[in-house]
Amino acid sequence: MQLSSYDDLRSRLLSQAVTCEEVVRHYLDRIDHHKEDNIYITVFHEQAVERARALDRKLREGGEPGRLFGMPMAIKDNIAIKGARVTCASIILGEYESVYDATAVLRLESEDAIFLGKTNMDEFAMGSSNETSAFGKVPNPFDRNRVPGGSSGGSAAAVANGLAMVALGSDTGGSVRQPAGFCDIVGLKPTYGRISRYGLVAFASSFDQIGVLSLNCDDAALVLEVMAGKDGLDATSSRHAVDDYAARMGEVSVEGLKIGVPKAFFPESLNAEVSGIVKGKLNELRERGAELVEIELPESDYAIAAYYILVTAEASSNLARFDGARYGYRSASSGDLSAMYVNSRTEGFGREVKRRIMLGTYVLSAGYYDTYYKKAQQVRRVFQDRYREALAKVDVIAGPTSPFPPFGIGDKTGDPLEMYLADVFTVPASIVGMPALSVPVGMDSLNLPVGMHLICNFFEEGKLLGIARLMARSR
Ligand code: GLN
Repeated sequence: MQLSSYDDLRSRLLSQAVTCEEVVRHYLDRIDHHKEDNIYITVFHEQAVERARALDRKLREGGEPGRLFGMPMAIKDNIAIKGARVTCASIILGEYESVYDATAVLRLESEDAIFLGKTNMDEFAMGSSNETSAFGKVPNPFDRNRVPGGSSGGSAAAVANGLAMVALGSDTGGSVRQPAGFCDIVGLKPTYGRISRYGLVAFASSFDQIGVLSLNCDDAALVLEVMAGKDGLDATSSRHAVDDYAARMGEVSVEGLKIGVPKAFFPESLNAEVSGIVKGKLNELRERGAELVEIELPESDYAIAAYYILVTAEASSNLARFDGARYGYRSASSGDLSAMYVNSRTEGFGREVKRRIMLGTYVLSAGYYDTYYKKAQQVRRVFQDRYREALAKVDVIAGPTSPFPPFGIGDKTGDPLEMYLADVFTVPASIVGMPALSVPVGMDSLNLPVGMHLICNFFEEGKLLGIARLMARSR
């Protein structure tokens, strides 16, 4: 079964050329076949088939098919599905089952999507390679010795390997876009507040956003539209009206499109092949009628510095709830109360998570608050102002998604700073809260994927996806 777009699948399902059950069994077979790749942490073998049968029955009985009727989806394992484990790829939540559904999940379900399982990730979404997971490493679909990116590495590998049609990820500083770039698929991070965070386990609350990983821009638009919109259960979700994204995408034309190309996104250190492929694609668009405008933006290194102060501060506070008392893992060797806390957290969290809790606690401490945290907030404001100014002059800001192609498993685990630099081009959009995505634009000489990273103004997801569609490499 060759399935490359939901449109195609939908017409086959509605004409009853194929049933939801057949489709689900096809995907479950593939998932089982890829078992040793650790892409899924939990697979809903029985539930997915049951659900598919119920949807087939509904169609036969003349029921109205939802907008995502029969769409086989994977959900990152930091997003809650009632009754299913939500591990965050951590020992501390390894056995924990969610007692409620995320709002995004409920909205997908109400439009007849089918969930195949929960995908692997970096522990608590902290990482760029899926290597901090307590549930094993995930190989890159194009080279088994390389990483799929992270933190939504399982979701990206699931879509790229045909183990789900669309997957949800979460993006705090690039966790949807960077793995999409490394796996040759589309990865969209919407405007901050566009999708409710209710039921997404918090990493850094003022950055976190649920995002979509898919084979093409049209599927991403549809899934976004279903999930987007105000939610009474998340005070930071936006009241901004939800667009008809397909219509907005259709309005985009290459003729006269102003593409901002910042020098900051093409530093000397940029991998030559990545630079060549991205610039080649931009030149191609210029030949088709777009205008390339050189723009000035602050150096992205400052974004990384500010990001790792702000997100560690927020993480140290958010992760305080995992104490062995309320839920999750409790150490067997717990003597008194304080030993119970210490041992549970020591055994339950991995190295990277501990590093971030310590960093965050440090930057928030009385003596250093002004030097680090306050300063980083000021940098965040400068980035917001400068990006707004830039996007008043151009339609979109373009550059590479990653400074290098997918790297080898183990290559960067010894040096956290090196790992942090993997997100140098994705972090700025997270600092400012604007929508951004990665779209596949080419393959390098080792047949490794290269992604183009695009940023649009707040709530312009439709335009962003329309522009990306103009650039997408044909499969
Ligand atoms: N790699 C970045 C980090 O480790 C981004 C993670 C994310 O977006 N969740 O923080």
